Order: sequence, then C-alpha cells, then structure tokens
Amino acid sequence: MPRLPETFAALYGHAPDGVWSAPGRVNLIGEHTDYNGGLALPIALPHRTSCAASARDDDVLRIASLQEESSVEVRIDEVAAGQPSGWTAYVAGVLWALREAGYAVRGLDVLVDGRVPLGAGLSSSAALECSVAAAASDLFGLGLMESAEGREALATACQRAENDVAGAPTGGMDQAAAMHCTPAHALRLDCRDGATSQVPFDLEAHGVVLLVTDTRASHALADGQYGARRDSCEKAADLLGVEFLRDVVGRPLDETLDALPDDELRRRTRHVVTEIDRVDAVVDALRDGDLDEVGRLFVASHESLRDDYEVSCTELDLVVDTAVAQGAFGARMTGGGFGGSAISLVRADDVDRLSSAIEEAFAQARLTAPVSFAVTASGPAQRD
Ligand code: ADP
Ligand code: MG
Repeated sequence: MPRLPETFAALYGHAPDGVWSAPGRVNLIGEHTDYNGGLALPIALPHRTSCAASARDDDVLRIASLQEESSVEVRIDEVAAGQPSGWTAYVAGVLWALREAGYAVRGLDVLVDGRVPLGAGLSSSAALECSVAAAASDLFGLGLMESAEGREALATACQRAENDVAGAPTGGMDQAAAMHCTPAHALRLDCRDGATSQVPFDLEAHGVVLLVTDTRASHALADGQYGARRDSCEKAADLLGVEFLRDVVGRPLDETLDALPDDELRRRTRHVVTEIDRVDAVVDALRDGDLDEVGRLFVASHESLRDDYEVSCTELDLVVDTAVAQGAFGARMTGGGFGGSAISLVRADDVDRLSSAIEEAFAQARLTAPVSFAVTASGPAQRD
C-alpha cells in the first residue's frame, strides 16, 4: 500500500507539508465523570490516526479519509452545526473552533488515515480531531503544541468541534488524553479545572497486560442515552445546589442521595460520586503496585456502570464476567457504553487463554466475534 504522503500527492496534485498523528485512548477508570467536573484516568493507545496536510492561502478546507468514501470541500466561514455533515464535521469543526477562539487559521488540504478502530469506544473521533489540530497549530504558526497550556487550548477546540459541529455532546476526556498522555503513564485528569498529572503505568514490570476487547457491538442507542445521562446529572446537580456533581464528593453520600426526589436520579448520582472516588483509589493502588486492588476497583466500577448508571450491555457484561471467571485481576467496560470496548487486567501468561475464553463465550451466546488486543500506554499528538 502506498504511504500516506504519496496517496495525498495523488489526490491533491502536490506533496503534503507534513504528517501529524494523535492516539486513541482507553480510560482505566472514571467513566461518565468528565461532564460532571470529575476525574478520569485514560492512557493513550498505540493505535493512532494520521493526518497528512498542507496549508492553503485561501479559506477552503478539502477533506478526505482513507477510511471513508465521502469527501468535502468547504470554506471555514460556512462551517456550522451539522455543516458539513457526517465524518468531515470532525475535521472542519476543528478549524472553525480554532478561528472562533481567535486563532488565525486558513484553509487546509487534509487526508486522514485512522488506525484507531472507528466507533469502538476507543476514541477515533478525538484522535482524528487532535491530529488535525496539531497540523493546524504547526502549519499556521500557532505554537500551541509546544506547551501544556497550548495543548489544552487545542483540546478545547477539538471538544467544541465534536460538540458544536459534529453534534456529539461528549465531555473533554478524549481530547485531553490525545493531547497530554505520555508513554508508560496514565493521565490523571481533573475535568473541573483541566489539571493533569502523570501516573506511572508500566505493567510490563509486573508481568501484567492490559487487554482491550472490542465487542463489535454497535452503540446505536448511545447518542440519545448519553444525552439523557447528562441531563440527569445536570438535574441532580441543580437540585443539590452545586455546579457539578463533583462538588458533592466528600459529603456524606446518604445525605446527598436523600435530598434527591427519585430512585433513578439517586442511582445516577451514586455512580458519579463513587466513580470519582474510585479514580484516586486506583491512582493510589497503582503507586503501591497493588494490582489486586486495581482489579477490584475495575469490577466495582463496572457494576456501578451496569446497575446504577445503566450504560452497559450484554456483550460488555460477558467480557467482564468471563475475565473475572478466568482469574483476571479485574475488568470493566470503558468509554461511553452500550457497546464499544472492555478492558481486562491480566497476567501476561494468561492473555491467550483469556482471549480464547472470551471468543468462546461470544460464540456460545451467538454474538459477533469480538477482537482482543494487548495495549501499552503510548504517546500524545505530535508531528511525525
Ligand atoms: P469513537 O470515538 O469511540 O471511535 P465516535 O462515534 O465518537 O466513536 O467517533 C467515530 C466517528 O469518527 C466515525 O463514525 C467517523 O465519523 C469519525 N472518524 C473517526 N476516525 C475517522 C477516520 N479515520 N476517517 C473518517 N472518519 C473518522
Ligand atoms: Mg468518540
């Protein structure tokens, strides 16, 4: 297969100015906490999305992908909610959001090659946005890739692209992970103030592997349900008189829940509050090298997402149950839920046995065959 720059040249009639890339992510713990001002703990995947790009001296964006048939040509000032529609919104939205934030950007020719599985809950959307943002920063001399503050500004623009142009009401975790994660570390992300810190995450030293299982279950329900969960959290925060549910962490949980009028709101709130606590518990356990405790916290997180937040599904539960039955330290769904991927913490020697057991369990349940792969914590968006 020709390399991306050659394909770019064949498509646009000139060489790209460069190639930039950004990673997908898995979140170790802290699910559905980002839009509650909470904590999350993602790692960057070795899987990346590349963006070959060249600067134009007009305002036109030409956007194509090796993964999609459709392409688009649009001026930055024509970009708006749902315009362009489809996958190109994730790219055009980034340039629009950077301009909205006051940065001097012009048009680009863009060709994307994504190696993050699309729609598997591994954040191919943020990998796409952040690879484009990195290209724009370098090509228009914005200098934002060179500092943590600059990267935060790029992540914010990428989140706006996803929320306001692509129309997906996601929190900021995915973009922050793609911009700030470093190799052999998890990123402790405080979504209230954007603060980040690096937590050593080097499983190899312990002979342990993080196994990702893409269940291949479509998350067709995801969009409406995601919005409904966000609405519940906003409503609960309103009723409790705080800006974010994060603000009631540390208060007696019983009293918080007693102040809410119905069982559903109580369960949603209990998930968010206990999940935020579990993030720092995992950070502590990782610092102590206590993987049994990390595993227990993974399972507690999964049960909370399944029973209180109600965003799991048959396939995700089956991965977790199988992993636990096979002696994994622990396992949980990761990402928004309703399909997508699960993670298992497992001894290196047990990986093949666990992958086979998961495949077998899916075959027995007559479910689409899942795909499992081991991952290591990798690096952030960069120029390649
Ligand atoms: P996830 O981020 O978990 O993979 P999303 O639904 O948030 O799932 O984003 C997936 C969407 O992002 C795809 O349906 C597509 O619109 C867009 N996308 C991601 N990567 C690419 C790519 N390489 N080429 C074209 N579109 C992409
Ligand atoms: Mg996404």
